[in-house]
Amino acid sequence: MNLAHWIERNALERPDAPAVGQGTDVILTHSELRNRIERLAGGLRGLGLKKGDRVALAMKNVPEYFEVLFAIWHAGLAAVPMNAKLHASEFTYILENSGCRACFVTPALGDTIRLAGAEGIDHIIDVTSHAYVDLLANDPVKISFVEPDELAWLFYTSGTTGRPKGAMLSHRNIVAMTLNYFADFDRVMPADCIIHPAPLSHGSGMWMFPHVCAGACNIVPASGGFDPAEIFELVAHWQGVSMFAAPTMVRRLTTSPGEADLSNLKLIIYGGAPMYVEDCIAALDRFGPRLAQLYGQGESPMTITHLSREDIADRNHPKWRHRLGTAGVADACVHVRVVDEDGAEVPVGEKGEIVCRGDTVMLGYWNNPEATASALRDGWLWTGDVGVFDEDGYLTLTDRSKDMIISGGTNVYPREIEEVLLQMPELAEVCVIGRPHPDWGEVVIAYLVREEGHDLSEQQADAYCLANMARFKRPKAYRFVDVLPKSNYGKILKTEVRDIENTHDWID
Ligand code: AMP
Repeated sequence: MNLAHWIERNALERPDAPAVGQGTDVILTHSELRNRIERLAGGLRGLGLKKGDRVALAMKNVPEYFEVLFAIWHAGLAAVPMNAKLHASEFTYILENSGCRACFVTPALGDTIRLAGAEGIDHIIDVTSHAYVDLLANDPVKISFVEPDELAWLFYTSGTTGRPKGAMLSHRNIVAMTLNYFADFDRVMPADCIIHPAPLSHGSGMWMFPHVCAGACNIVPASGGFDPAEIFELVAHWQGVSMFAAPTMVRRLTTSPGEADLSNLKLIIYGGAPMYVEDCIAALDRFGPRLAQLYGQGESPMTITHLSREDIADRNHPKWRHRLGTAGVADACVHVRVVDEDGAEVPVGEKGEIVCRGDTVMLGYWNNPEATASALRDGWLWTGDVGVFDEDGYLTLTDRSKDMIISGGTNVYPREIEEVLLQMPELAEVCVIGRPHPDWGEVVIAYLVREEGHDLSEQQADAYCLANMARFKRPKAYRFVDVLPKSNYGKILKTEVRDIENTHDWID
């Protein structure tokens, strides 16, 4: 099963229905999309790419995103979608680590990728260029045969070791995730659509698949990003609208002023980070029974547990408030357990690491057998998340064993920032933590110890971060201290640093 079969099926079943939209415009019908994909795939083969070769996308949310992805699969290649907001050095790492031969870019990102100078990239193709038009002028080619376990999407997640790891998602993984969407979230109809205000390289891109599978329409906002006023305009315009939104986006939609016509809104699925119960209730008050929650991770995309729209809206249930604070129940196509360090299941009500198995679980990490061996043990995915099941099978996430910070719905790994900061000779020690924040979920805070006899100001530290990491990862505050709290083994005690942070009234 090749994911690109869905494109062929749609073109036969409903050739003239909308497949891709931008703003309030229909950009491509299903038959137009199929025709462009078949030609683009011909162009990719003409570049000398062989079956299984990786092709990257450094693209904002534009209509071409969909045809590039499906042309890659049509041609039997694998896609490496990258977050468009990454720093040049981060692009280089992913391009080289994945061994990509070609990279599709949107205009501003072309220069970044070229300057990054990753080795092995033979082709950088701007989707607004003549080179792209030339690719589309190729003769159409037939879809490649792929085995279900062949690599489809290399999903880069930042690792606690400081370097991103490529979770290998197969065609089977993505088909299973898609069927799970129909089972646990919604039965998408062909006249429905999904709007993508969040990056297509991540969660929102994953929800593209149920909509392609159902012959519905995928829409990018004209602004390419998230603007509540624009989202409401699109909801009023299109039919049967769904979207994926990080909790911080849901909060902004809930609190945005003005009356909006919500009659066409079908479903907002939030997840990827914790959502406060009060925020969830406020969203329910504004949007009605149109909210569902997912808990998943790149290694089992969008699929571990879910809190259904019925559960969220069931105000009269005696456990309603408690359930809003959980991540819901196990998904239809995964087995979820909470276990101790040895992998033995712990009793209901006790905390442990969340593990899961099923057809959505990744093949492993690209070129990283050690990380694969630690994440996949006896067929179970060890998520690194700590949780607890209640007696009704609802899972509460209590902690993140990986120390990840989730700011504005995006994951930030402290270790990555610590490694950059530690490159400054003026610094002896650093510790990066997240501080709870009402709008962003969490913000990044850096604790710094200067080398003896060295001076360093907050502005200098910030300038260094600005030059060496993606803007969204940059600490919001720098706190200079003489010592950091440590254990007997000399390990910095993050919990204590967090306590210091949370018990002081800092003026930032
Ligand atoms: P990523 O692989 O980037 O999608 O990040 C996945 C991580 O985000 C998970 O391992 C969790 O720690 C966190 N996460 C995902 N969904 C939820 C949720 N519904 N509630 C709380 N945390 C979540």
